[in-house]
Amino acid sequence: MNQAQLQQVLEGLVADHRSAHHLGQVADYIPELGKGDPSLAGIAVWSPEGLVSAGDCRIPFTLQSISKIFTLMVVLRDRGEEEVFSRVGSEPTGDPFNSIVKLETAERRPLNPMINAGAIAVCGMLEGKTLEERFARVTDLLEEVLGRPVSIDENVYRSEKETGHRNRALAYFLKDTGVLDGDVEEVVDIYFRQCSILVTCEELARLGLFVANKGVTLDGRRLLPRRIVRLVSTFMVTCGMYNASGEFAINVGIPAKSGVAGGILAVVPERFGIGTFGPALDRKGNSIVGVRMLRDLSRQFELSIF
Ligand code: GLN
Repeated sequence: MNQAQLQQVLEGLVADHRSAHHLGQVADYIPELGKGDPSLAGIAVWSPEGLVSAGDCRIPFTLQSISKIFTLMVVLRDRGEEEVFSRVGSEPTGDPFNSIVKLETAERRPLNPMINAGAIAVCGMLEGKTLEERFARVTDLLEEVLGRPVSIDENVYRSEKETGHRNRALAYFLKDTGVLDGDVEEVVDIYFRQCSILVTCEELARLGLFVANKGVTLDGRRLLPRRIVRLVSTFMVTCGMYNASGEFAINVGIPAKSGVAGGILAVVPERFGIGTFGPALDRKGNSIVGVRMLRDLSRQFELSIF
């Protein structure tokens, strides 16, 4: 299939599924996200042959939970697996992403780094003297991959900072159990900042290609050891779509990570990166339109890794 044919396929996916947004709702527990336009829909595929996209692919939105995979890569590189997995586990939960219920486990550490509690624990391991330096560990990696300076949506950041009490509660619990060192408010602040980083659907595909290539950029620079990116891709399969990860593995079968602003970053290992955008979410917090487009694309081209 050439790029022009792929373009037609992607246009078809957007046309077929855009209206499914009626079945879901934009996230409004972060008030600023509630202003999102649910009817937006886009999909982009970035392969070694280049970028092909359709629909609303150049509208910036916030990474939200998709940021968790990049922070995890940075921390695995800087701290090593042993330390990281002494503070956060590697098992799926079957609970919502912001659940507080299973924190009180025998080990008293978050079950995995893709749920909010685990991602906050990961933020607590970022290195640097100041908050800005620690946050820059994450933006530096994204900037290297995207080839442009990264910025945050100040309104979304402030909105979550003002209302993110559950995330704060998770963080204070982790402070109590010794998973988090340092200043809790600062760690949560970094978490809110990383969730507010702006990307487009096309850029999600580019980030996806970086994951597909196991840590090598478009222009052939290796930024991370292969093993780290493989490890993070594995978490995307087992926990990337939260408590819908099993269903997604059956229906789509590729590593993916979703965010509540409506983005999904998906990866066909060694082949290409896919970005989808559609702000209306299902009850588990995944983009309705995005999941449907990925399901059809995977079926049509037999992309499942299983
Ligand atoms: N910032 C969001 C939160 O912590 C991220 C969650 C998500 O994208 N699933 O609630």
